[in-house]
Amino acid sequence: MTSSRTVNPHLLHTLFRADDIDRRVRELAENIRNDISERPLTVLVVLKGAFVFAADLVRVLGVPLKIEFICVSSYGTATVSSHQTEILLEPKDLSGRFVLVVDDICDTGYTMQCVKKRALELGADSVKTCTLLDKPSRREVDCAVDYAGFVIPDVFVAGYGIDCAGEHRELPDIYVVET
Ligand code: 5GP
Ligand code: MG
Repeated sequence: MTSSRTVNPHLLHTLFRADDIDRRVRELAENIRNDISERPLTVLVVLKGAFVFAADLVRVLGVPLKIEFICVSSYGTATVSSHQTEILLEPKDLSGRFVLVVDDICDTGYTMQCVKKRALELGADSVKTCTLLDKPSRREVDCAVDYAGFVIPDVFVAGYGIDCAGEHRELPDIYVVET
C-alpha cells in the first residue's frame, strides 16, 4: 500500500513514502548496531506514536534486546504540544541497562528530555535517543538526539504510527496534515 490509496482530504501531501522510511530505518539500525555492540540493550518505546517505527527498527537491528514502553502525556491541543508532562506508564527497573529511547517526533524536546531523565532515574547505565522525525527549528530545550531519521520543517504530520486526533496511525506513509 502506498500514497496512491484514497486518503482523507485533510492529509495534504505525502512527506515520506513507506519505501523511503524503510530505507532510512535500516540505515539508522546500522548506525545504532555499530555503537552498541556489547551492551545489554533495552529499547524504550514512547507510546503511542513510536509503536510502528519501533517495531520496524527492532526487527532490523539484529541484536539481542529487551523492549519496554513508556507513555507520556503532554497537555495541549491536538496539534500543539505543551511543556507539562505526566508519565502514565513506565518500566519497573532499568538498572544496568543501556537504554535507547525511541520516539516518533522530537519537537520542542520536552518529551525526550523527560523520558531520558526518567530512564536514568529508573537505573539505566546510559541513555541514547532515537527519533524518526526531528524538528530542530521547534526546539525549546536542549535534548540531545543521537539518532534522527529525517529532519523536517515545522509542519504537522500523521501516518506510520503518528496520529492526528487519534486517527491515521495505520497509514504506511507519512503525510503533512492541514491544521
Ligand atoms: P515535544 O515534547 O518534543 O514537543 O513533543 C514530542 C511529541 O509531540 C511527539 O512525540 C508527538 O507525540 C507530538 N508531536 C510533535 N509534532 C507532531 C506532529 O507533527 N504530529 C503529531 N501527530 N504529533 C506531533
Ligand atoms: Mg510522541
